[in-house]
Amino acid sequence: MSTDTASQSTDNRPIAVVTGASSGIGAATARQLATQGYHVVLGARRLDRVTALADEIGGTGRQLDVTDDDSVAAFVAGLDTVNVLVNNAGGAKGLDPVSTADLDDWRWMWETNVLGSLRVTKALLPALIASGDGLIVSVTSIAAFEAYDNGAGYTSAKHAQGVTHRTLRYELLGKPVRLTEIAPGMVETDFSLVRFEGDRERADAVYAGLTPLVAEDVAEVIGFVASRPPHVNLDQIILKPRDQASARRNVKTG
Ligand code: NAP
Repeated sequence: MSTDTASQSTDNRPIAVVTGASSGIGAATARQLATQGYHVVLGARRLDRVTALADEIGGTGRQLDVTDDDSVAAFVAGLDTVNVLVNNAGGAKGLDPVSTADLDDWRWMWETNVLGSLRVTKALLPALIASGDGLIVSVTSIAAFEAYDNGAGYTSAKHAQGVTHRTLRYELLGKPVRLTEIAPGMVETDFSLVRFEGDRERADAVYAGLTPLVAEDVAEVIGFVASRPPHVNLDQIILKPRDQASARRNVKTG
């Protein structure tokens, strides 16, 4: 069912939209929500991946570049009623001190994590309200609460994404939409591979010597959030591996 059939006129399942569903946390969340009875609309730039996963879970795969207004408009077309939006698309580029910050990396992080989530949220807000029981999940990070050396491009973007989400929680008071911020610590996905531009050795070193979370750990929590009754709002959930106490301290750093 990977073609464009995400319309409630043809399918009575509630609709969940997951951005960045081509890998990692987004893909695992799409699978999880499908098992909970949602028709999942999966978006990412790699259409082949979201289409394949949509086929597997009986959902709909659509191309989405959250940094592009037209792409977002095409992605949300026909989605008039949406029950769950998971703003997950995002990531980090580079690990540089402020003194040598790469402005293109910063632009990528702000465009994707902050403005990308904002674009999709704005576009789907009427559909979430129209559902009568909407839920917006923002996947931020412990980087939305902490600073760490060489991480300012990412931590500042995640702080901004988090504050935008928390502001919306106030602004939607009285509307039938719940908002949950999910802030994971270390999760072994393609995150570090993207951050280090495909340098597998450097990416693997991040997770060596400790047991990180896996994408399914986060997806299960998102599934739990989505399964709460309409009057229960889980505002913020921070989840970390046992081996990590903060963005700066884990079993390796002591
Ligand atoms: P990942 O495996 O690299 O997944 C990132 C996803 O974002 C991919 O599906 C990617 O799809 C999508 N994406 C990137 N740019 C996009 C764009 N412009 N438009 C649409 N989709 C885009 O990493 P992940 O760990 O699952 O990351 C998911 C979220 O969790 C991110 O927001 C990340 O910041 C957050 N997070 C991760 C960790 C961690 O340790 N892994 C910790 C805390 C928070 P395409 O490339 O196909 O577009």
